[in-house]
Amino acid sequence: MAKAEPLRVAVLGAGPVGLEAALYARACGLPVAVYERGQVGDHLLRWGHARLFTPFGWNASPLGLRALLRERPARDLPAEADILTGRQFRDAYLVRLAESEALLESMHLGWEVLHVGRPAAAKKADPDDRRPFRLLVRGPNGAERIDQADVVLDCTGTYATPNRLGDGGIPAVGERAARPHLSFGLEDVLGDRKDHYAGRSVVLVGDGYTAGATICALAALAEDHPATWAFWLTRGPRGQPLPRLPNDPLKERDRLAAKANSLATRCDGNLEFHPQTLIDEVVCHGPDKGFRVAGRTNGKPVAWEVERVIGAVGSRPDPSLGLGLRADEPGYFVLGAKAGGPAFLMRDGLDQIRKAFAAILGNPRVDLYANKAA
Ligand SMILES: Cc1cc2nc3c(=O)[nH]c(=O)nc-3n(C[C@H](O)[C@H](O)[C@H](O)COP(=O)(O)OP(=O)(O)OC[C@H]3O[C@@H](n4cnc5c(N)ncnc54)[C@H](O)[C@@H]3O)c2cc1C
Repeated sequence: MAKAEPLRVAVLGAGPVGLEAALYARACGLPVAVYERGQVGDHLLRWGHARLFTPFGWNASPLGLRALLRERPARDLPAEADILTGRQFRDAYLVRLAESEALLESMHLGWEVLHVGRPAAAKKADPDDRRPFRLLVRGPNGAERIDQADVVLDCTGTYATPNRLGDGGIPAVGERAARPHLSFGLEDVLGDRKDHYAGRSVVLVGDGYTAGATICALAALAEDHPATWAFWLTRGPRGQPLPRLPNDPLKERDRLAAKANSLATRCDGNLEFHPQTLIDEVVCHGPDKGFRVAGRTNGKPVAWEVERVIGAVGSRPDPSLGLGLRADEPGYFVLGAKAGGPAFLMRDGLDQIRKAFAAILGNPRVDLYANKAA
C-alpha cells in the first residue's frame, strides 16, 4: 500500500502565534509554508516601542527555545524574567526563529494571502474525500498565484483592523471619510510621533491598556510641551477607567493601570477625563486642519474641536480571508489573537496550537510542549 503523503500545512501570518504554529508543525514532521504579507512580527513592530507586560519566559515556547539553543549559546537569549519591548522581543526571538534551520525554508516574507477556498468534494457523502485548500497569494512583486494546502492555520491577528469609534461599534458620522487622518492603536507619542502630538489638542478614545499607555505618554509630553492638551473619552461609567485585577501577576500591567487611573481622577497634566461618553460624529476638516468630535456624555450633547484624534479602541478579526468556507471547515483553524479576546496573551496562543495539532493528528494526547527539557 502506498504511504500516505504528510499533510501540507499553510500558516497565514508570521506573528508570534504563526511562527510557533509553524515550528510545531515542523516538529510533527509536516511540511509547512508560512505566508507573511509584511515583515516577521509585523504587528508587534507597529507598537514596538512599548514594553510588554509579560516576561520573556511567558512568551517563548519550549520548542522555540530549543530551536534557538541548537544554534546559539543560552547567553544570547533573554532571561525568562526579562521584560522586553515589542521590538526587542521580535528581534531577539521571532526574527531568530524565522531564520532558524527549522523554519528558514518555510518562510514566504512579503507574500499576502488574499483568499482561501476549497473545491467541493467529488463524492459528497464521503467525509474523507477532502480536496486541498486553494490559496490565492500575492508576492512581493504583485504577481498572484494559487498555492495548495491540506491544513490552513489562520494566524493573521487583528491589529490591522481597528474597531470603530461610533456608538454601537459602527463608524460615527464622518468617520469613514476621516479614517486616513485618524490614528489607531498604540502611538509612539514620546518617540517617532512626538512632533505630531507635541503642543496639540488631542482626543483619545478608549478605556483599555492601550488607551492607558497613551494617556500616560500624553501627560509626560505635556510636561515639556505645555500647549499639549488631551481629552480622554471613555464609554464606561468608571471613575477609574482601567480595571485593576486583584494580585495581578503582571506587575507592569498593574503599574500602568494605577498610573492611568490616577491621571484620570486627578485630571492634571493638561488632561480632561470624560467617562460615559458615546461618539456620534468624527468629522475631519481637511488634511492637518483638525477634527470635530461630537457625541453624548451622560446623555448630554458634547463636542470638541481638536487637532488630533487617537482611537485606542481595540481591533477586530477580518473575516474576509475564508469567506466561502463553512464556520467549522475541517482543516481550517483560526489561531492567535484573531481567535482570542481583547485580553489575549501570546501564551494563550501556545494552548491553541497544542489543541489544534491534537485535532489535526487525531490524537488528543499529542503535546510537544509537555516536556520543557526534552
Ligand atoms: C499594545 C499591545 C501590547 C501587548 N502586550 C502584550 C504582552 O505584554 N504580552 C502578550 O502576551 N501579548 C501582548 N499583546 C498581545 C499580542 O500582541 C498578541 O498576543 C500577539 O501579537 C498575537 O500574535 P498573533 O501571531 O496571533 O498575531 P499578530 O502578532 O497580530 O500577527 C499577525 C501577522 O499576520 C500577518 N498578516 C495579516 N494578514 C495577513 C495576510 N492576509 N497574509 C499574510 N500575512 C498576514 C501580519 O502582518 C502579522 O505579522 C499586546 C498587544 C498590543 C496591541
